Amino acid sequence: MENKSMHPESLMMSYGYNPQWSEGAIKCPIFQTSTFVFKSAEEGKAFFEVAYGKREQRSNEKLGLIYSRLNNPDLEILENRLTLWDGAEECAVFESGMSAVSTVLLEFLKPGDLLLYSLPLYGGSEHFIKTTLTKFGIHGVYFRTGQTKEEIIEIVKKTGKADKLALVYIETPANPTNDLIDIEDCKSVAKYFSTSEKEILVAVDNTYFGPLWQHPLKFGADLVLYSATKYIGGHSDVIAGAVLGNKTLIKRVKTLRTFLGNMAGPWTGWLLLRSLETLKARMDMQARNAKKVAEFLELHPKIEKTYYLGFLNESNPVQYNIFTKQCLSGGAMLSFDIKGGEVEAFQFLNHLKLIHLAVSLGSTESLIEHPATMTHCDVDDEEKKILGISDKLIRLSVGVEHYDDLIEDIRQALDHVSVGVEEGIDIYDLTSSEVQTV
Ligand SMILES: *Cc1c(COP(=O)(O)O)cnc(C)c1O
Repeated sequence: MENKSMHPESLMMSYGYNPQWSEGAIKCPIFQTSTFVFKSAEEGKAFFEVAYGKREQRSNEKLGLIYSRLNNPDLEILENRLTLWDGAEECAVFESGMSAVSTVLLEFLKPGDLLLYSLPLYGGSEHFIKTTLTKFGIHGVYFRTGQTKEEIIEIVKKTGKADKLALVYIETPANPTNDLIDIEDCKSVAKYFSTSEKEILVAVDNTYFGPLWQHPLKFGADLVLYSATKYIGGHSDVIAGAVLGNKTLIKRVKTLRTFLGNMAGPWTGWLLLRSLETLKARMDMQARNAKKVAEFLELHPKIEKTYYLGFLNESNPVQYNIFTKQCLSGGAMLSFDIKGGEVEAFQFLNHLKLIHLAVSLGSTESLIEHPATMTHCDVDDEEKKILGISDKLIRLSVGVEHYDDLIEDIRQALDHVSVGVEEGIDIYDLTSSEVQTV
């Protein structure tokens, strides 16, 4: 086997693939096939016995290829490579981040169970918890970033269903404000309610900071989830997801995946294999750029406040301690309050030339959006206030462009913002002036 002690970035071009399997092709081909031919009936029987759990895999026995809903070389090699970043035993890849999330929630919760989750959560995940899980009689209770371990334990006890707690599901850093949650504290809460018969699991959606800048398994998490659409894919050209954890847990995830049929296809697998080769280079550059952009924003007179993890310091000891313990970088996601409100925010957004006005994140191109009216428009007003999602908040995912050009683009767009303009200004005037300048 290959040398796992090398850095993951050194193994992303080779790990888990032997060119001799494919006529010497240096890259793993796209195995565009639905089914695989067995050498003999005996071999087919053996493959099925292992795949269907009728007996354990023998130590020298290779898991046979049967049918692309169960396994496919592009997916298996991708899964093996993904385990290296998080130091996980096993991985399962999906056709979207949401299928990774929903499959985990369905596999580890059953009717009557209680789910403890953090807020804010990715909108799709929260929707699934509130509408789909409740249809199956699964209850959810949430805590917020900033709440202590003791407060979280109280929240669970107050539900009167503490004995039904089955899963803790969190997202850190939180979107779009970059608030951090202590993963070790969540594990303590899970342990507090675990019994000798029942171990409560902790699952972390690590999309914002993984797989480079935060490794939740090292802090006691049992499962790590990704929207691989974001940094892992990284080119805004594929939707995909992944779940990582130990052998036993991922076996359960993969079994449900087989029957939901939401595994990634071979093209998705191949695109992600290609993306993984430059993952470290891209994320390093994105983090460097984000720091430069954040430093520029922080000093700009039309910007009220910049939310960037690299700025955390002892003046905010709770968040700073989590950051120094858990995070390996300030990341490449920023948000900031522009002086004014929606009018000023839209003036700014409509005048950007290089940075794209689009949702999603973690891509080679910088992406910018207005959470209050776009990604978080479904959040009710009271909740928006608590989360700090105001009309003046803008979210930026920093890409791999030269930071001088990003800063220049932001500077020229801010020059078009007239701070203090009256509310109710005709928005269509802004659109037409934008058309002229582009
Ligand atoms: C995008 C995203 C998801 C959903 O992933 P898809 O690939 O869009 O299905 C889940 N969690 C987080 C944090 C995300 O950003």
